[in-house]
Amino acid sequence: MSAPLLSVRNLTVDFATRHGDVHVLDDVSFDIGRGEIIGIIGESGSGKSVTAYTIMGILDHAARIRSGEIAFDGRDVLGMSGPERDSWRGAEASIIFQNPRTALNPIRSTGDQIADVIARHSPASAAEIRRRAVAALREVRIPDPERRMKAMPYELSGGLCQRIGIAIALACRPRLLIADEPTTGLDVTTQAVIMDLIRDLAQSQSMSVALITHDLALAAEYCDRLVIMHAGHVVETGPTPEIITAPRHPYTSRLLRSVPSMVEDLNELHPIQGSLPDLRRKDLPPCRLAERCDRRLSVCDAGRLRLEACGPAHSVACRNPL
Ligand code: ADP
Ligand code: MG
Repeated sequence: MSAPLLSVRNLTVDFATRHGDVHVLDDVSFDIGRGEIIGIIGESGSGKSVTAYTIMGILDHAARIRSGEIAFDGRDVLGMSGPERDSWRGAEASIIFQNPRTALNPIRSTGDQIADVIARHSPASAAEIRRRAVAALREVRIPDPERRMKAMPYELSGGLCQRIGIAIALACRPRLLIADEPTTGLDVTTQAVIMDLIRDLAQSQSMSVALITHDLALAAEYCDRLVIMHAGHVVETGPTPEIITAPRHPYTSRLLRSVPSMVEDLNELHPIQGSLPDLRRKDLPPCRLAERCDRRLSVCDAGRLRLEACGPAHSVACRNPL
């Protein structure tokens, strides 16, 4: 197997707040292969966006990266200078956000916003930039792209705004796209259109994608591999079919049982019980699920917990796996 495009190792991130440090990410590791679509899955608050923002270098100033490494095609991302990181972002790695409207500048036309990104990364004549901007809109299948160049974000539907967000993200042909809940809040039909588009572009450009979502059914449909997060830990990772049919971590199994389309009998449908532990606590147990786990053993509370291989491409962080 070729080296992964992105490799995240032992990433630990805290936020300094008035109420003390919030221990958000703890020892997070995963890879994204070339041309691969991975899903980063977890409940709200599990650290998915913080992971994405750490990779992109767009964390809030209160964040502290305590330890860890991020390698992109062998380059040390966390060690890049500010200007290096700025040109890397957009040109080689891009992100699309959950709310397409807030990601766009409300007072600039969509065409100008795409042109800005293109001009920043590859200066060309105004006519050439405009031609490329129209092509970028066409690529995300926006009807009548010439006319849409003049549209303001408020004149467009949520689905069209998200396509423009994708066009902006893809304008410089990044090798990695991080899509942070790209279809949350869109209707089911638009959701499928956007996801099919992301998948087609990934295939045609051999682009790697990290799809971040709380929607396991969506991820199961589009992702080659899944990374399951719980309260800032990666609890399980492996090929999608294996995770779906034979989850090893109790949390993954509970997630699967909470999705109507993934249970055979609706009587087996159970919402996830309990809430995430308070990440400000100083006495967080090694397994952050322990306090709401029915498979907890006394060994669960001792020593550091790590992801360990449980199959050729499958790992789990649990002392009493399924
Ligand atoms: P997800 O995207 O999985 O829903 P996030 O990555 O947004 O979760 O957040 C993970 C945790 O980090 C949450 O507990 C959240 O409160 C905390 N967090 C995120 N940003 C900040 C911040 N700027 N200051 C303090 N805590 C934060
Ligand atoms: Mg989020």
